[in-house]
Amino acid sequence: MMVQYQEIKDQYPDAFLFYRIGDFYELFNDDAIKGSQLLELTLTSRSHNASAENQIPMCGVPHRAAQNYVDILVDKGYKVAICEQVEDPKLAEGMVKREVIQLVTPGTQTDTGIGDAKRNNYLTALTKTATDYGFAYADLSTGELKVASLKNFEAVVNEVMSLQTKEIVVDQSVTDDERQQISQIGILVSHQDDVTEQSELSYLTQDVTDVAQNAVLKHLLTYIVTTQKRSLAHLQRAVVYQPSYFLKMDHYSQRNLELTQNIRTGKKSGTLLWLLDETRTAMGGRLLKQWLDRPLVTRDEILARQHKVGALVTQYFERHNLQEELTKVYDLERLAGRVAFGSVNGRDLIQLKTSLNQIPKIQHVLGEFEDGTFDDILNNLDPNDDVADAIEQAIIEDPPISVTDGGIIKDGYDDQLDTYREAMHNGKQWLAEMEASERQATGINNLKIGYNRVFGYYIEVTKVNLSKLPEGRYERKQTLTNSERFTTPELKEKERLILEAEEKSTDLEYQLFVKLREMVKQNIQRIQTLAHAVAELDVLQSFADVSEKYRFVAPTLTKGGHQLRIIEGRHPVVEKVLGRQKYVPNDILMDDQTTILLITGPNMSGKSTYMRQLALTVILAQMGCFVPAKSATMPIFDQIFTRIGAADDLISGESTFMVEMKEANEALANASANSLILFDEIGRGTATYDGMALAQAIIEFVHNRVHAKTLFSTHYHELTVLEESLPELKNVHVGAVEKDGELVFLHQMQNGPADKSYGIHVAKLAGLPDSLLTRADQILTRLETKDDQDKPIVAATSSEAQSVEDVPAKTVEEQKRTTVRESENEALTPKIDDGEDTQL
Ligand code: ADP
Repeated sequence: MMVQYQEIKDQYPDAFLFYRIGDFYELFNDDAIKGSQLLELTLTSRSHNASAENQIPMCGVPHRAAQNYVDILVDKGYKVAICEQVEDPKLAEGMVKREVIQLVTPGTQTDTGIGDAKRNNYLTALTKTATDYGFAYADLSTGELKVASLKNFEAVVNEVMSLQTKEIVVDQSVTDDERQQISQIGILVSHQDDVTEQSELSYLTQDVTDVAQNAVLKHLLTYIVTTQKRSLAHLQRAVVYQPSYFLKMDHYSQRNLELTQNIRTGKKSGTLLWLLDETRTAMGGRLLKQWLDRPLVTRDEILARQHKVGALVTQYFERHNLQEELTKVYDLERLAGRVAFGSVNGRDLIQLKTSLNQIPKIQHVLGEFEDGTFDDILNNLDPNDDVADAIEQAIIEDPPISVTDGGIIKDGYDDQLDTYREAMHNGKQWLAEMEASERQATGINNLKIGYNRVFGYYIEVTKVNLSKLPEGRYERKQTLTNSERFTTPELKEKERLILEAEEKSTDLEYQLFVKLREMVKQNIQRIQTLAHAVAELDVLQSFADVSEKYRFVAPTLTKGGHQLRIIEGRHPVVEKVLGRQKYVPNDILMDDQTTILLITGPNMSGKSTYMRQLALTVILAQMGCFVPAKSATMPIFDQIFTRIGAADDLISGESTFMVEMKEANEALANASANSLILFDEIGRGTATYDGMALAQAIIEFVHNRVHAKTLFSTHYHELTVLEESLPELKNVHVGAVEKDGELVFLHQMQNGPADKSYGIHVAKLAGLPDSLLTRADQILTRLETKDDQDKPIVAATSSEAQSVEDVPAKTVEEQKRTTVRESENEALTPKIDDGEDTQL
């Protein structure tokens, strides 16, 4: 056996091999040692031969519970090869033949827990040509299949991050360095070097003409076929997508804006997705996330969604009814997947039927809306009556989980089955009668007829009553502690008939079930089309629900022009968390002639919230949702770039400042006049002069060359004088008032620059020692009143500084002063050099 084991194991060196022996899957050797730790199983050992040497470590799991153990390993990023006995041990000559029937990997896992129903599990693939990266992905549970050409490795990283894939399949064209970068993000890199032609799946790629895209699809499909070894009838034809069809955001921005993942916890709570998710179906939940990852850029498409959301907002009762009906729709996409895989059971089919029965009710509700509003969705809402009827006729309402033990098919569905059932029923009737007559004949009142899987039917008599049994007729079968079991020739004959009927009946039931399953399988594409329509409707009602609950309005999207006018806008997630009363709404006003808002104000006053608020508003608008404001007019943006907060670089482990500069460069190099740029405190990561100089140069560059709508927050108050020389720059600041010597933030944006630095007050709020704060006040006062700024402020004397030590001869405040002076003299009139200075 170990020879066979090793032969199979050699084919799957990077996977745990679950080797089936009887009712168990066994793990051996290193798999057993590592597996017993990961799965908390008892490690045992067995010896090759009689000697105590050559002990083979092993551990096992019962086959019925195996799914859990497989899931645990795969969730941890491992692969599991399931090796089954592929012939009946009773019939086998010599070793039972065994084969790996499936390789479960993080990207191909389909039976994920309920908690993950609202997330897709994408398997991705990457190959390279001289010019392009071919990139493809599939969700094996839903059948979705997409492919794109990406122009560089950054774009690849963006895609894998936003898809949150757990596994990527690559070939030799992908360099070691690239593989390493991907695996550092925590994605399993699987190698698949050979491609085999999958002729039976060629229809999946028939719409794809591009060479790189075709190659990567073949690659992906080869991997799927070789690992899954099961029907893939539910895979949908590959859809080519282009990242430029959508609002582009890099993964830094998606992360920073906390669209689907909370930066601190990694969870959904506290994100825009969390706020928006009022979907009632798992399919809707997944589609919502997809829409959030890819907001639209085409005005007509956005307006088409917005129009439907508007109708659903207005017709409250219909929306409510719709939600009620959607709640009863199960996960049609994953049910279709299970039908294809052949892993569907009776309960799944009942769920499918229940869901299909909801469709006429949904059609009815949509009929209450103005003609035309939901036409495109209604066109795809096919209730699949034939499928629902077929299930209705065949499957009982509450079928068992197992599909091979019978008890699934309704009476009256199949004549032959009814005959077997009749025989079983009669036989059981006969047994009851026999029990009664035997009791009477023997006078043993507790004589009973029973059944057990090993011994079959028997007559059981307790030991005290044995003497009452007449001789001869009863044949002993089994002896227990307190009783004896017997059979008789008549009972044997009846047993044969009953068991035969039972066996035939369960076999037939299974055949009937498989036939029905195949019929459903023929309709998978129709079910998938329906599923998509339901998902879309669900997301739209979710938008409407949220829009009403949080008082969102329909944004006006300008045609051309760059006017941005948001009145009383809010950051919806912060508002939800803080509570409506505490949140201070803010306007964002940028006309055609305003490119940059330079935002000043103390720390913690709300600058970055204000910037994020705009980004979220844009994303919501371009998803087709309403937006958190009293009114909103805005252009359609092509890309969003952000440099907000301290996003630690997940990929290359570079310094924060380097990351900051790279993100800035990404924006400056790629932004167009139709883009949105959010720069929060750029330049903070380096020395004052350095940082301020960079900040100013970046502002000038955006102002004079890029023209993208830009919000730029800074604590360099000195930069506010740029308003005088840069006509498209406007100063705004966050108001704060001092009350009783304390600082109170108003969180209110006001025109003009902030007039005072509040740093010392913030330091006070933070609890720095009084003596230190007094000293800082002294220095500030002297800086503000000093006429002759060339003289450095002398270090504090011991009496002045009291307990403060090490005050530098030249303070930071003074350094800033000097910089202002310098910038006033030279740099403030922007001198644009048309030379090659674009590389920052
Ligand atoms: P900054 O970027 O200026 O340091 P933040 O934007 O991080 O400040 O905001 C600091 C805190 O102030 C936030 O955590 C939030 O609780 C609160 N805040 C921000 N904006 C508002 C607002 N408009 N209304 C009420 N509270 C706000």
